[in-house]
This record gives sequence, C-alpha cells and structure tokens, in this order.
Amino acid sequence: MKDGFTIPSSPFLSLTVLASGSRGNCICIESEETAILVDAGFSCKELLRRMDITGLSPEKLSGIVLSHEHSDHVTGAGVLSRKFQIPVYGTSGTLDAAKNKTGILHRRKDITCGVPFAVGDLLIHPFSISHDAADPTGFTVSSGGVKIGIATDLGIATSLVKNHLKGCHALVLEANHCPAMLEKGPYPWSLKQRVKGRTGHLSNANARDLLGEIIHPALSCVVIAHISEKNNTPEKAGSVVAEALKSSRAKLVTACQQSPTDPIRLTSSPATCPCSDNAEFYQPDNLEFSFAN
Ligand SMILES: [Zn+2]
Ligand SMILES: [Zn+2]
Repeated sequence: MKDGFTIPSSPFLSLTVLASGSRGNCICIESEETAILVDAGFSCKELLRRMDITGLSPEKLSGIVLSHEHSDHVTGAGVLSRKFQIPVYGTSGTLDAAKNKTGILHRRKDITCGVPFAVGDLLIHPFSISHDAADPTGFTVSSGGVKIGIATDLGIATSLVKNHLKGCHALVLEANHCPAMLEKGPYPWSLKQRVKGRTGHLSNANARDLLGEIIHPALSCVVIAHISEKNNTPEKAGSVVAEALKSSRAKLVTACQQSPTDPIRLTSSPATCPCSDNAEFYQPDNLEFSFAN
C-alpha cells in the first residue's frame, strides 16, 4: 500500500518506445493485465501501425496518458480514444489546451501533479516538469516492485524531477540536442533560445548530468529519447549520455522517430518484494532484464 492505493501487482512490466522525436512521441507500458500509452503524437492510423509491429492490441489499452498538449504528443489521442473507447488522462491544463487537437475524448480523466493514480495494476505518479506548455508532466509507472520513469520535454532537471526519477529500474530520458549543433543549425534565433531555455529541452550533457545524479545499482536500462533530427545525432547523444553509465550495468537504448524500440521487459520476484509498489524495498539482485525480441 502506498499513497492510499492497494492495487494488484504485475510480475513484469514491458516498455516500448513506439516513436520519439519532434515529429511524434508514443511510449507503451504493459503489464500482464494492463497496457497504457504515454502520449499519442501520431495519427491514429500510424499509432495502430506501430502497435501492430510490436504486437500490442488496441483493445488491451486501458488508458492514454498525456504529458502535455504539444502536437507531437497528442495528435492521435482523440481519434484513438473515441475509436476504441479508451479514457484519456492528463492534467486539466493539458487536456484543456489539447482540446482543439484531440476533439472530444471518449472519457476525460483529470489528474493532478503530485497525486498518484491507478490504471489497472499500474500505479502512475505524475510530477511537474519545466516546459513551455500549460501544465506539463513527467511520470513514474510502477507495478510489482518495478518502476519506470519518463521525462521528455523539460528545460531543466529540477530537484522534484530528480527525486521522482530516483529508484527507477528503467528510464526514458530526453537527450534532445547538442548545443554546438543547435548553435550552428538551421533554427531561427528565437527557436534556438526556446530549445535551450529553462522551459525547452535537455541537451545531451544535461541528460548525462541528470543521470549521474540519480544512477543506482538497480537501474537496468536507459532509453534516450526526443533526440533532435536537426540539432543532434543518435551517436552524439549516445556517447555523451554513456559517460554517466561507465561503471553501471545499465543498458543504453536509443529511441528514434522512424521505428519502435524492441520491447524491454523488466521482471521482479514478488517473494522478495514485500511492498509491491515501493521501489525502496526493492532487491536489485532479483531484477531480471531482457529484450523480449
Ligand atoms: Zn515534444
Ligand atoms: Zn513539448
């Protein structure tokens, strides 16, 4: 029991980044019983195509959770919600600001940063991030002693963000730009200022430094995400962020715009995890990490 919740716990969590970048974002987290999408930033048709590639049936989806209202995070949320009767979760600020892009939702579920909520056997904890949107949100998703943290689209890593991402077994973390490439790149001056500002996006070095502060022995996997196609390369992002993982067993995975990552499966042994949703009691030795494919 944590924060007033008693929910069933899953023996595993599976994490797949269906796409990430300024042209569309979507992350799937799946337990034995429940599947959710965090963001749905493509057309419904493209979302369904990518779900099909990874073997996820839209009928299994119990919720679409939106981080903020920018188009690359919400484009397909409304159509998918109506077509398959899926509730959409987001802060009131996000859902209000996304209205003109999503249309009417099958069911609107308002959430509040700092207040955890359950979707099936997933416990989701939303927290505020610094980004130029109405009420933008990062998330941790946990079940069965496994905790996944998601933080993309943030200009600075506040102590609140670091506190929430501590103790995660897998992280989806933004490594948006290389400052030198951004400086020399094609963006107009105002957009460059926006990207590197306090409510913009994390650079590769920002992501590395954040990771350096929260790394711990049970962190198994780091997915770098929202990598700019104009102001960064996957190689640059990977080599900078890897500096924080030198003495870690954590695997580094690069999410991209074109195709989904392989599903990353995280399992724990319930016998050694007395409090299913509390990562602090988690026994790192009992975490098994594998790519499903
Ligand atoms: Zn974005
Ligand atoms: Zn954004």
